[in-house]
Order: sequence, then structure tokens, then C-alpha cells
Amino acid sequence: MSASLLQALGLGATNSGTYLGDGRWSGASGAGVLRPANPTTGEVIAEVQATTEADYEAVIARAQAAFKDWRTVPAPRRGEAIRLCGDALRRNKDALGSLVALEMGKSKAEGDGEVQEMIDIADFAVGQSRMLYGYTMHSERPGHRMYEQYQPLGLVGIISAFNFPVAVWAWNSFLAAICGDVCLWKPSNKTPLTAIASMKICNEALKEGGFPDIFFLVNDAGTALAEKLVDDRRIPLISFTGSTQVGREVAVKVARRLGRCLLELGGNNAIILDESADLKLAIPGIVFGAVGTAGQRCTTTRRLIVHESIYDDVLATLVKAYQQVEGKIGDPQDTANLMGPLNSRGAVEQFLATVEKAKAAGGKVETGGTALDRAGHFVLPTIVTGLKNSDEVVQHETFAPILYVMKYSTLDEAIEMQNGVPQGLSSSIFTQNLKAAERFLSAAGSDCGIANVNIGTSGAEIGGAFGGEKDTGGGRESGSDAWKVYMRRQTNTINYSDSLPLAQGIKFDL
Ligand code: NAD
Repeated sequence: MSASLLQALGLGATNSGTYLGDGRWSGASGAGVLRPANPTTGEVIAEVQATTEADYEAVIARAQAAFKDWRTVPAPRRGEAIRLCGDALRRNKDALGSLVALEMGKSKAEGDGEVQEMIDIADFAVGQSRMLYGYTMHSERPGHRMYEQYQPLGLVGIISAFNFPVAVWAWNSFLAAICGDVCLWKPSNKTPLTAIASMKICNEALKEGGFPDIFFLVNDAGTALAEKLVDDRRIPLISFTGSTQVGREVAVKVARRLGRCLLELGGNNAIILDESADLKLAIPGIVFGAVGTAGQRCTTTRRLIVHESIYDDVLATLVKAYQQVEGKIGDPQDTANLMGPLNSRGAVEQFLATVEKAKAAGGKVETGGTALDRAGHFVLPTIVTGLKNSDEVVQHETFAPILYVMKYSTLDEAIEMQNGVPQGLSSSIFTQNLKAAERFLSAAGSDCGIANVNIGTSGAEIGGAFGGEKDTGGGRESGSDAWKVYMRRQTNTINYSDSLPLAQGIKFDL
């Protein structure tokens, strides 16, 4: 199945990981080989040649030249280019969605959903291309006009994580493109094939439409090339999606060269269930949030904070629901399964180490806690009780399906627990109490970038700005006014009078 799927997307058993522009893929080798594997079986899907230093320099030179032209193309015309990318993705949704599922290990529905997100952000970007608005201001000086405008920034370096291998690139690159920027993508080492396929689909659509190259691709067998990209002064914006640990290093390096950083880092997302919560909504919301994508979403529900009056009932219901999921763990391509594998052997080891740490801290494993003894990287969805929110293991994001269930007695206490972790991505409350909902959303409520009422923590729509505070990095991508990060702001003052009045009434008579 995978050979015909690869062929349908223009991939083979060995592939170049470097798009040089002008329809050319590099033939160079010697920088290492990536071997992405199917997490369900552990089998290598295909090989990808990493980018050499010489090719990296060639790509940068080509991207810089491309920017010089692209920045002068009218923004609505740039939108037309992205409309073609969206159309091409529509035509290839089934195949690309299948490859996302195969390489990352998510379900076919989630793989298709990820491609749908690319299509949605393409549509959004087309509309946005006519709305790159700046303000006009009234000047304090007579005969003067002031306004601000947003200009293209330059090269945007996109470093993405394995768990959303293609949507994150589209969120960044489609908006950056309508802003007049040129993008250079370094995907996760674990998911280079979906990156190559996305690049082929979009770049061929651009070429057919008579548009120039605006999307480039490099791949890294280790971290040296990614680090070079982060340090590269020719790239004014680095958009980094990944762990807090790596993101922190990236932020420091980019700050050192006074570049701009867009950080989308780890989450430690909580749901609060108050005494009025509608459990018909809450239980599926929690299970999907905690177990979906095998706990490998940045917005995965990792903590559940339950009012003491309903704690025992909720825990018993959840344990039962988890045990139903246990019977439906397997190949995520099989629609009968509810949970697929973790992405790698390393992730399984981290899961097992975290369970041991939780037990050592006094936690009780209510269900799950072990790996499955079969091919692939399967673990059981796990619920741990008996820990405090402040326990080190609870404070940490483990990228696996582990849910810590804790109880509270007052809403203030629940909100304090929800906020009492280093990360600040997604949060939610299930309540039928208007005052509790509003309090949760108030200035004294959730401190996260995303705060929901009566829906879970995971699964955001592209129309809103996506991102989080504190150790999540503070970046915003996708909808709302997230486009502004891809542009440089310029304030313009025009004097159409016959004198030269100075601001603040200052006199300087010659
Ligand atoms: P990771 O940090 O291991 O890797 C992310 C990217 O950084 C990869 O492309 C990797 O190759 C690259 N990288 C690794 N070392 C580097 C270095 N020294 N310099 C520059 N780049 C380097 O993360 P991951 O395991 O791929 O993804 C999971 C993490 O990503 C989780 O923490 C998850 O919460 C986070 N994530 C966040 C969001 C968000 O929007 N907030 C979305 C998806 C994933």
C-alpha cells in the first residue's frame, strides 16, 4: 500500500529532502539519510537525503532572490497563488491525508483533517490578502498626514514538530506568502515524507499558475542544519513549533541576533469539571482530549481538575471509558480503532519512565500504565490519581496519553491549579453555571492562550489566533491578526504644507 501511496504523491523509495527552486530537487548526498518509519509496525517507509551545507547556501541564495520579486507582487495577486495551493491540496487530500496518517501514526480521519486545515488556512489567507490593514492617524502638525503600513519581512524559517507534520507549515507559509515573504521549511526529522509531498503539491500548483518559487525545503539528519538556520541572520523570522526545551534554546539564539521568533511550544492543558458539569458532554470531551492522537497533540488534555462532590463518579466513569478504548487500540488506519501508536520507541520509553516517576511520587495508576507487547509503539491510555498539581511529574508535559485526575473544593482553588503549571496553552471548564464560566474567562481566570467553556482543550479552529503563554512561548499563528508577525510595520508621515513644523512644538530656527 505504501509504495503506491508514495508514487501517487511523486515520492519513491529514496528521495531528495532539498527543494532548490526552479522545479529542481537536489541530487546531493553525504549529509546523512532520514529513515521515517511507520509507527504502527516500526517499518521504514522510504529514505530521504538530508540537505548538504552547499545546498543550504544555494537554497538561501535562491530564496533571497525570489523575495526581491515576490515582495512587489500585489497582495491580492499573492492570494491568488495560495488559492491555487488550496485547490491542489483539495485534489490531493485523500492521498496526503493517508501519508500523514502513515508517517505520523494518527488516524486516517485525523490525517485528512490535517490536510483540511491546510485547505482552510489557504482559504483564510486568500481573503486576508485583501485585508493587510494599517491604521491612519491624525497628525498633530498642520498639513501633515500619518499612516502605518505593513511591508513584507523577508525569509521566514519554519521549523515544525512531528505531530502536526503539514498543517503547521501551511498555517505559517500561506499567511507569510500573502504577506510577501518567502518560506524555508525544516520539517521534523521524523516526518520528512509528508513535507516533501506537500512541497511538491504546492510548488507544482504555483508553477502551473505561472507563479514563482516561494516555498523551499531543507531536511536535517540531526540538528546541525536546524541550528544553522536558527542562527542565520538572513532569516528575519524563525517560526518554531516543538518542545519547550528546544524552543527555549531557539528563542535565546534568535534573540542574540535580534531576530524575530514565533514560538509554539508545549502545553500542559487542564479541564475543570465543576459540580454542575453536564457529564454527557464532559466525559467524551475528556476522553477525546486525553486519548485522541494517543496524547500527542500540543492541546491534549493532561490534567483533570474535578469538584470533590462528583470526583468518585467521574473517575469510575472515566476508568470504564478508558477500558473500552483499550479494546480499540491498533492500526490507526483501521476506522474501528480509537487509539493508535506513539510516534517512536523513544516516546514509549518516556511514557514508561513517567509512569514510574508518578508511582514513585505516590501516584496510583487507575488504569493503563504499560506498553503493549507487539510490533509498533503502542501503550495503554493511562489515568493516574493521588498526585498534587505541584508534583514535578504533573508539572511536566509528557507527550503520551497520561491523564492526572485531581480534586478541588472551591472554584478559586481549581483556577489556581489550572494556572499553576509552567505552560499556558489550552484550558477548559465544563459548567452550567454562568458565573463560573465567566469567572474562568475573566482577567482572574485562565491564564492560557486558549480558554474554552463546555468543549475540551484539543481541536482548535483556524479562524482564531492559536498559541499560548508562559512556557508555551507566547506566539500566535493562524487566524485573527496573526498575519502581522510575518510583516514589518512602518509609520509614514507626509508633509503637504509649505513649512516644516517640528513635532511637540519644538522650535529650531536657523
Ligand atoms: P522537538 O522539540 O523535539 O522538535 C521540534 C523541531 O525542532 C523538529 O523539527 C526538530 O528536528 C527541531 N530541532 C530539534 N533540535 C533542534 C535544535 N537544537 N535547534 C533547532 N531545531 C531543532 O518537538 P517534537 O517532539 O517534534 O514535537 C512535540 C512537541 O511540540 C511537544 O512539546 C508539543 O507540545 C509541541 N507542539 C506545540 C504546538 C503548538 O502549537 N504549541 C504544536 C505542535 C507541537
